[in-house]
This record gives sequence, C-alpha cells and structure tokens, in this order.
Amino acid sequence: MHEHLRIRDEAVAAQWPDRYDGDAELTAALDAVRAASDHSVRTIVDPTPMLAGRDVGFMRRVSEETGVQIVPCTGIYTYGYLPHYFENRDADQMAELFVADIERGIQGSDVKAAFLKCAADAPGVTENVEKVHRAVARASVQTGAPIMAHSRPASNTGPRQVEIFREEGVDPGMIQIAHTGDTDDLDYIEGLLDTGVLIGMDRYGLELFLPIDRRNATVAELLRRGYADRMLISQDFCATIDWFPEQAVEAMLAQGLVRDWSMTLVFEQVLPALQNEGVLSDEHVETIFVENPRRWLTAGR
Ligand SMILES: [Zn+2]
Repeated sequence: MHEHLRIRDEAVAAQWPDRYDGDAELTAALDAVRAASDHSVRTIVDPTPMLAGRDVGFMRRVSEETGVQIVPCTGIYTYGYLPHYFENRDADQMAELFVADIERGIQGSDVKAAFLKCAADAPGVTENVEKVHRAVARASVQTGAPIMAHSRPASNTGPRQVEIFREEGVDPGMIQIAHTGDTDDLDYIEGLLDTGVLIGMDRYGLELFLPIDRRNATVAELLRRGYADRMLISQDFCATIDWFPEQAVEAMLAQGLVRDWSMTLVFEQVLPALQNEGVLSDEHVETIFVENPRRWLTAGR
C-alpha cells in the first residue's frame, strides 16, 4: 500500500543531474519490485507526489519491466514550504491541477492519478500545509479519488488533518492517515479510528520512529480489538532516496535507526511473527493486503 520507487528532490535533480545515477536508481527500483513480486505482490501503491520527485515515466518503465501494477498519485509533499507559484494561488487553483492529473493524466501521459497525497509533520498543520490539505480534499470531493495523508503522531497531526478533510466534505472511508503505526499510543490510534478513517501501519523497518516489535504489538492489539478492516500494512520503503549523504546513511544503519528495511520485510518478518502469536489469520491477510486497499481506492467511484 505504501512504497516508493524513488524519492528525490526534483529541483536538485533538475539542476545537478550529474549527482544522480539514473541506471542505479532504476536497478534499485526493479530489484525491490521484483522481490515484492516474488511474494505475490501484483500491485504497489506509490504515494510519491510533487516535491518528492514524482516521475510517471519512471513508474511506467518499472511497471512494464516487472509486470507489477504501480498506482500513482497527485498532490504535494511538504511540511510547510511551497513554491511561490502556489503561495500566490489559492487552494481551488491548486485543486484544479490535482483534478487534471486524476481526470486527464500525469505529466502529459495518459496515466491517471488514482489518489491524492498531502503531508503534515513536525511543524504541524501550518498555513501552507492546511492549504494543501484543503486543495486535496476539494479535488477528492470533485473526482471521488481517495486521500492518503502523511502524518506524525508524535506531533498529534492526525486529528486536525481528519478535521480539515471532514470540513471539506470528504467521506472518512476515503481517508487514509499514513504513519499512524509510528506510535503505540492506542488511545491516539482509536481516536482516529473512531472518526471512520483507515490507518497506515506502514513504516516497518524505520526503527527511528518505532521498532518492529512495538509495531507488531500494536497491530496485534488492534487485530484483537477487531480493526483488521481499517488497517493498511506497509514499509514506506524507498528504493532510493537522496535526503542523506552516504556517510549519514551508514551511520543510521550502524546505529540501528533503520533495520532490514525493504519492500519485503513485512512478508519475511512481520506476517510470520503475527501468525506465530495467533492473532493473524489468512482471512486477515486477505482483508489487509487486498480488500482494504481495493475498498479505499474505489470508495468514491
Ligand atoms: Zn511514504
């Protein structure tokens, strides 16, 4: 439900293309998707929007070479910054571009965006972040496309994000609050679930936010409480990401901040652990990995 074929700053990549190895990026994406395919994955939802380097040609190529369907989005990935282009235009003008991606196609192609993406993180729901959320919500209401919102439980962003979507008239069944699994605060999580939204338990391997065993304990308890049909499990894996210099990546790995992060970690470690504990049935797996994504993606159509 939540994996990235490639994350990079599109402005830096456009201005200093020699700093990027396109062949290595493609190879990394192909390897990751093929590994997932070996675990019977037939469709990958890639929530990479503007400012995270969305490139529909890259997605199409990986899809064609692997036979795995890649589902693209529209939207803006920002914790506060917006280009002047959008600072001087309102939420409706922003929404118009999102709608074009959904109805006509992305970047001049005939590949249409299937859902909308926005983000709130440590700075909270700032003015610019709220503008993107309202634009995403309006495009959702207009087109029936669902919404995936990057959240930060540690900054309590989820409730306010849901509130904005609801103010704009979005049905809660079309809203997915990503990264809810970064916390094991069950009161926070149930508070979100009470609003009717879906939650992403989607950063397995990113130990810096929450270690695997605590993520598993949270998912296990939510299964016991009957929330199988409200959860989406994923890794938020990035086949490549340009955010950190090589040394910093090595340090993070050495410190255990990232562990066994891949597009297959969930199949290799998480499902076996939950099955051993006796909380995850085959029916749950079908619900979480097939039915929930399908229901969310098609909720408004
Ligand atoms: Zn992501």
